[in-house]
Formats: sequence, C-alpha cells, structure tokens
Amino acid sequence: MASIRFIPAVIMAASFILLRSRLSHAATRSAAAFVSSSTRSIPSSSSAKVTAVNTKKCGPSLSSTTTLQSTATRQSLDSSSPTSPDLDLFKVNLLTLPLPELETIIKSWGFPAFRARQINNWIFNQGVSDIDGMSDLPLKLRTVLKERATIGSLHLEIEQVSNDGTKKRAYKLHDGQMIESVLMPYEDGRRTACISSQAGCAMGCVFCATGQMGFARQLTSEEIFEQVARFASELKADGERLSNVVMMGMGEPLANYRNVIAAIRRMNEELGIGARKITVSTVGVVPNIRKLMDEDIQVRLALSLHCATEEERTALLPANKRYGGLHELMTTIKEYIRVKRQRVTFEWALIEGENDSPEVARTLGRLLKTYDIRSDMSHVNLIPLNQLVAMEVVHQEEKMLPSSWMF
Ligand code: SF4
Repeated sequence: MASIRFIPAVIMAASFILLRSRLSHAATRSAAAFVSSSTRSIPSSSSAKVTAVNTKKCGPSLSSTTTLQSTATRQSLDSSSPTSPDLDLFKVNLLTLPLPELETIIKSWGFPAFRARQINNWIFNQGVSDIDGMSDLPLKLRTVLKERATIGSLHLEIEQVSNDGTKKRAYKLHDGQMIESVLMPYEDGRRTACISSQAGCAMGCVFCATGQMGFARQLTSEEIFEQVARFASELKADGERLSNVVMMGMGEPLANYRNVIAAIRRMNEELGIGARKITVSTVGVVPNIRKLMDEDIQVRLALSLHCATEEERTALLPANKRYGGLHELMTTIKEYIRVKRQRVTFEWALIEGENDSPEVARTLGRLLKTYDIRSDMSHVNLIPLNQLVAMEVVHQEEKMLPSSWMF
C-alpha cells in the first residue's frame, strides 16, 4: 500500500458522492479502528447503505477532534488486582468465575453458598472492585478472599482517557502478552466496549500493525469475558450500564471461535448484554462464518471488506485467498443474511488514493448487486485510517503501547 494517512470525514464524504444525510452510529474495525458515524446516502450503483464515519476508535486511532485530556498509568484497577500477573494464575478470579462454581468453592472453604451470591452482587451490581468494599461479608471470609482470590486477572498497564470520555486500555496478561480494550461513551447513552480476542493476529492485513506483529496466542474465554466484565462492573458503580460490545480490538474473533462464542454467551447470560448488541468483526474466516450461521445466537456480523476486487483484496488482506477468495466470501455472506435474517455490516477502511474514489465506490456497489445483497440487509461503514494522530500519542506518552494502536 502506498500510503496510509488520516483522511478527514469531509473528504470521505466528498469521495462518496450523491450521499443523502442521515445520522446513525456504527462500530467497525479496520486495524482495530472504531468509529462513530454520520450516515450518508449511497452511490447510485450501490445496493447498500454507505456510512461515512468520523474516527471514534476502537484501539488505535484517536479521533482528529479528540485530544488527549488526561493520561494515566494505573498499576491496577483495584487493590485486589494482582501486582504481579503471575500470582494471578493461582488465585480464584471472582470477575470471571461463573456463580455455580463460585458457590462450590465458597462452600469448600467452609462458608455458606449464599456468600457467593453476595460477592457476585458486590462485583456486578454494586461495581465494587475491592474485597474490603464487600462490607456485608464476614471479616474471616474477606481475609480468605484476599489470600485466595482476585477481582480480575488482567493487569492494567496503561489507560488513556480522551476528552470525549473514551477509555483506552492496555492490559498485560499473565504471560506478559499485551492486549487492548476500549470503552466508548455516546451522547445517546450507549456505552460500548471494544475488546480483543487474540494476542496478536495471524491474518496479516497489511494496513494493520497487529497483523504485522504476528500471532502470539488465543485469549481464553475468561480473558475475553473479563475485558467486558470490568467495564460493566465499573459502569455499574457509576450508575451506568454497558450496552454494547464490539469484537474489533486485537485479533480475528472467528479464528478463536470456541472461546469467543463461550465469552459471548456469558456476556449475554451473566451481564445481560443482548446478543444483538454484540458485534463480531471478521476479515472473512469463511468456515467459521458458516458455523456462526448455525449458532442459536443472534450476534451482529461485520465483515472487513475494504476492497471490491479479488486482486486488491488479496493484496490488502492475505486472508482473502486463504479462505477461498471473494466469490466464496460473498456467497457465504449472502447465505448468512438469508439464514440469520440479519443485516451485515461491510467495513471499508479508506486509504487515500487507493480505495477512496467514486469509481471504487461504484465497484463496491456492483459487487453487492452481483451477490444480491439487499440494501435493507447491509450497511457499509467507511473508516478513515489514522496513523499520524496515533503516532503522536505514542510519542507523547513515551511508553510502549500495543503496536496495533498505531494506525
Ligand atoms: S484481522 Fe488481524 S491483521 Fe487484520 S485488521 Fe484485524 S487484527 Fe489486524
């Protein structure tokens, strides 16, 4: 790719002509970019709605209109979080242990099972992040919990809070791997968590720093769930509620299928986040899109399309060829829409001079038409890549941020 530079929303809007204005919001990833959007109309040749977006980041890029208000490096979220990530391996993680299992453990420690429900209530309804804050537990149990349990296993390395309230976090895992999570507040009251599903990524998308960094390992379902549970619990403490989750941070969610699905079920059942409020973003792991079709959950699917021709897509996203090419992908998406009766989002990372012209927009429109993707069942998000702004943040911080933040 020749260049990846920040593209203001106005230029994007101009690139996709004949657009009719309509406000909406959408989450999308390109190199883990999250966006809030103002929807424009569609190119005449396209059968899908096109969303022109302002950068609202999930992961790397801060919006051009967002300046860093405060940056804090917090050693841990609370006093019970591990000071050494390794110690956490041997402790019961109260933030991710399902209630029935916690009841069993509490009983095995010589306390009545109902104490487990009290603990859960403190964490998930009261937003307490400190065992000492669980004031209705007997002192003896609190002492045992402090020795043997922790509230969370993710070690918070860096937290940035921008002036729109967006929180970007880098967590260190017990084995030293780094992942990122972002919490995005919206004026309409939504609170959206953007989370990682893998440490690193094997997909190798050329515009993505995570892809260039390579794959380290799968996150466990607990590690995925905990990113969400932390935000949910913290928001609760402030009288708010986590409403949406997007899996658009580090990693390809559908390449960690089993753990991602397990975590989603828990978000749904234990945190009360509706499956339709959870978005899985994929580069196009066709076999697992098919698997997802057969699941009894109605999560939203977002496809990182970015290019509308075989050659261009393979050049930008090597996974295109790996999973059978554009025809296989679009056929699968068409089938997904038919089976799930659900709208699919096509993500389009705008790269200046590469895929941001009206002609490219028309090619996209033709592609969607060719595969009979109905306009009421599809949505295109335009994402401005934002390398320079994120790079500045890195320099300001003089800290090691996960490399995927840098685009
Ligand atoms: S699939 Fe992997 S390499 Fe591609 S954009 Fe997502 S995180 Fe980056």
